[in-house]
Amino acid sequence: MTIHTDRLCATFMDLCATDSEPKRERLLADKLKELLAELGFAVLEDDAGENIGGTAGNLFARLPGTGEGEPVLFSCHMDRVTPGTGVTPRIEGGYIISDGTTVLGADDAAGLAAILEGVRSLRELNLPHPPIELVFTVAEELGLVGSPHFDLGQVSAPYAFILDASGPVGEIVVQAPEQVKLRAVFHGKKAHAGFAPEEGISAIQMAAAAVGRMKLLRIDPETTANVGSITASFPTNIVPDRCELEAEARSLTPDKLRAQADSMRQALERAAADYGGTVDITETACYQAYNLPEDAPAAIHAARAARRIGVSVRFKATGGGSDANIFNSKGLPSIVLSCGYEAVHTTGERMSLDQLALLARWVVALILENGRQGEELT
Ligand SMILES: [Zn+2]
Repeated sequence: MTIHTDRLCATFMDLCATDSEPKRERLLADKLKELLAELGFAVLEDDAGENIGGTAGNLFARLPGTGEGEPVLFSCHMDRVTPGTGVTPRIEGGYIISDGTTVLGADDAAGLAAILEGVRSLRELNLPHPPIELVFTVAEELGLVGSPHFDLGQVSAPYAFILDASGPVGEIVVQAPEQVKLRAVFHGKKAHAGFAPEEGISAIQMAAAAVGRMKLLRIDPETTANVGSITASFPTNIVPDRCELEAEARSLTPDKLRAQADSMRQALERAAADYGGTVDITETACYQAYNLPEDAPAAIHAARAARRIGVSVRFKATGGGSDANIFNSKGLPSIVLSCGYEAVHTTGERMSLDQLALLARWVVALILENGRQGEELT
């Protein structure tokens, strides 16, 4: 089965060039609605946009089956990180790249384009296929903000393939961490730094001491932690009485995450006590971990389809969160497929043309794998 690589590439570049920063996905959502309708999908948009203060909701599209098999569900996110407006993609040496002033947006337009081209090819060849369901989410890059609003009750597929990971086509993410965010506000005491510093309690000093006590970055193979910001701004002649600190911790194992978050809280509290100040700590659970076995039906399905298109299969864990964390926590088994894009979230982001074509072939193989067995895809 052949993929029209020129058409795939044109669709991909068109999607990248369509503005779609988080909560500003309207243009891309409208374009996708149009393209999906042309392919025969019925498309619904939910009210996530209103709920999160964005311009578009999550899209749910459904194409009736023309053959045997359970519904196959693919999901991608429509937004991309900043700077992601006014993208001007171009081809250079087998890669699609941006002009260097913006990201490319391959994360996650590669997934979107591969799905569209995969389905288009099937339809043109009149190949019988099972029902196809698509969930295109908003505001994923803000920390999985859109997908929690999507009603999974509409879905009839038994599991989801989320096209949203770096790494070569054939890699399958079956494990992802849980994350918590910590926000701490230190309260000290103002004093003149020159006349009476001994009367003051420096909130900045407390924050610095807390960070000094913390174990950070790579904690163990499954656990990471980082302080992202320390904010206080006072004239140098005033002992600062307020300082905010933001940090996160992630782990594939809930117990390890709890231990790390607790030790960071202790560091914050001890630093405040040592200097005679106080600290208010807010902890937010961002998303839950998941860990699917390699013999889960979704994993077997993805691996079989990958072998059928001749790529090697590798199961892996990721350090990042995706909509799969949300869907898994709501009871829909979900795995994430690598899309072949590189250097995502940077202005050097690039997409190999070969990987893009392979990704579209993987989509086709995933759809057909469910409807029939044993036929060779060439
Ligand atoms: Zn992504």
